[in-house]
Amino acid sequence: MRFKDRVALVTGAGSGIGRQIALGFAEEGADVSIHDLNQGGAAETLAGIRGHGRSGEVRLVDVSRAAEVRRAIDRTVERFGRVDVLVNCAGINIYMDPFDYSDEDWERVVGVDLTGTWNYCRYLGPHLVERGGGSIVNVSSAGSIVTSYYRAPYMASKGGVRGLTMALALDLAERNVRVNAVAPGIVDTGMTRPREKRLGRVTDHAARALTPMRRWGTPDDVAKAVLFLASDGDAGFITGHTLVVDGGATIGNQWGQPFRMTREDGSEFDWAAEQPQSAAPTSTAGRVE
Ligand code: NAP
Repeated sequence: MRFKDRVALVTGAGSGIGRQIALGFAEEGADVSIHDLNQGGAAETLAGIRGHGRSGEVRLVDVSRAAEVRRAIDRTVERFGRVDVLVNCAGINIYMDPFDYSDEDWERVVGVDLTGTWNYCRYLGPHLVERGGGSIVNVSSAGSIVTSYYRAPYMASKGGVRGLTMALALDLAERNVRVNAVAPGIVDTGMTRPREKRLGRVTDHAARALTPMRRWGTPDDVAKAVLFLASDGDAGFITGHTLVVDGGATIGNQWGQPFRMTREDGSEFDWAAEQPQSAAPTSTAGRVE
């Protein structure tokens, strides 16, 4: 019970990785505030939190909108009396050729993924400091270390989240607020699955080809790393760090090498050779979310 009677605020907890993080905190004794736009998903997460015998709440908020974020944070602090841990997990991606992005596409992705993270750090940070300390964990991406095709604003944002994490960690270190990040590789969630339909790819195979441990990451793999970093008991002397959780995807041994891939029936094939030319460049360089 690393978070007994603590309060965690998790953005993006209505789905995927964020949901698992929220449930992880509840399982370890915390009350959890969910800040998300996905009302149905957030309600399901809330039911799970209550199932662990903890209190929770849902705040419908667009993390990219500073005024909404401020109001939602104020209400959460009012409701629970305090917040001890902040996890910035809400995120979106738009896959496109770099010159096809509209200004609105750019602003949307950067607004949610980077400015959204900043909004929560900026408006909840002073509360953590006033309370004598706290912990922030931001969800970046393995894509902030090795890049990938057709996601320029996402990469810019996730790289920005790593930079922001280090900057705030330095500024807040003497104020007893630790700020860290996780960098997930390819994780099986709603964010990664639609690509299968959109690009007609064998995403399941691609995920295994690009991950030396030859499996998808799970939301639980990432949640465990987030809880570790959030815990003062486990990670009390760790700040400004980005913990990569990617089954080895950023080690790099597969870049430019032929992929040995296995179909569901066990036969082997070359993944890169089977990709449609129109969907992606022919290089074997890979895709990491
Ligand atoms: P997900 O299942 O789509 O969850 C993202 C959640 O954020 C959804 O509930 C979504 O609501 C919510 N959200 C989106 N825009 C929002 C906004 N403006 N304000 C508030 N909430 C918003 O995706 P996931 O895979 O769990 O991703 C979680 C985080 O992990 C993201 O930051 C993502 O970039 C990062 N990540 C994921 C992977 C991966 O392979 N899955 C890899 C590296 C990093 P809606 O459902 O309504 O959109």
